[in-house]
Amino acid sequence: MPILSGSRGLSALRSSNRRRLLELLREHGEISRADLARLTDLSSTTVSSLIAELSDEGMVTEVDRHRAARTGRTGRPGRLVQLVGGRGLVAGLDIGREQVRAAVCDLGGEVIAEQSRHIDVEAADSLQLISAFVNELVDATPDGRARIARLVVAVPGVVETGSGFVSSVWVPNWQQQAPGPVLAEATGLETFVENDADLCALGERAFGASAGLSDVLHVVVSSGIGIGMVLAGRLYRGNSGGAGELGHVQVADLGDLCLCGNRGCLETLASLEAVLTALRVVRPDVRTSADLAELVNAGDRAAIRVVTDAGAVIGKEVAALCNVLAPQAVVVGGELAGGGTHLADAVRDAVERYTKPRTASRIAVLPAELGARASLLGTVALAMEAESTA
Ligand SMILES: [Zn+2]
Repeated sequence: MPILSGSRGLSALRSSNRRRLLELLREHGEISRADLARLTDLSSTTVSSLIAELSDEGMVTEVDRHRAARTGRTGRPGRLVQLVGGRGLVAGLDIGREQVRAAVCDLGGEVIAEQSRHIDVEAADSLQLISAFVNELVDATPDGRARIARLVVAVPGVVETGSGFVSSVWVPNWQQQAPGPVLAEATGLETFVENDADLCALGERAFGASAGLSDVLHVVVSSGIGIGMVLAGRLYRGNSGGAGELGHVQVADLGDLCLCGNRGCLETLASLEAVLTALRVVRPDVRTSADLAELVNAGDRAAIRVVTDAGAVIGKEVAALCNVLAPQAVVVGGELAGGGTHLADAVRDAVERYTKPRTASRIAVLPAELGARASLLGTVALAMEAESTA
């Protein structure tokens, strides 16, 4: 039994309404709340509430009254709203083990160009190769040099506050060389480097499952298991950026050694690789998350079983966090989430079972909506936040 199935529906409606407003803002530039209500058939109260929400998140701003007057707008120009950053674009990068995905997005979350390239991120010259990739993408975008001011990079590891070093077994060189300044120098773009689970959390909050919520735990289960935490409306990074390493909570005293050096971490039992390894006992040809998703989607009993078991063990740890933090929602995504809602369903069952009942009854456990694009859309959300605080 899903917890709060009604709020799942509400959340989906809310995110689709937000998306419609963002589309109209992108299309019209400056527009009044009344026109937004007319064009969407939403009530003026709903539009005002969604615009207030987007404004609180730094995505939408009132048009400057004097500037609006100069451009000859009539009526009540002070009531016009626009996307923060106007026609600006953001370049987003998602650094994966096998490939680097890059996208140029506008500030309403529309992906304008998207490319993937195989780059060996462990190689000594990986940052030069990545810079060249970004420059090609910027130059291929009409007015790219004028419109793209920011590059946001999602990395599979902890980004140390201050130094910008990245602590991750997947990109070992970046523990001594901070990628941000190198990429900024080589591309001419103001560059932000963020943990990928954090960016997924921001992406889903701006454009997906947790749209508009202020207290969200976003679990990402891929090669690593991370949790992006939005608390009281802000991304929580912890001391030196070290928060969110859910995968290294110890769940088995005498379990396998983990890449971090400890033993029995959650990742040794429930990461994508751990699940694929377990499944290969009966499905020896399974190699990738796409293979797994295909089996799950086809109703393969063993595939669904290993995903559900992983969700159960992850969910128990998430339930502990729910007792401590009492979020509005837990969103479940990542490569292990493909092919159905089994992973989120198992996490929901565990949250229901191990979280204090009164707290659990107020938490919606939701499957992520943005799939592999979550972190790229998170780069847009982060760039807009940077824009609104600049
Ligand atoms: Zn570990």
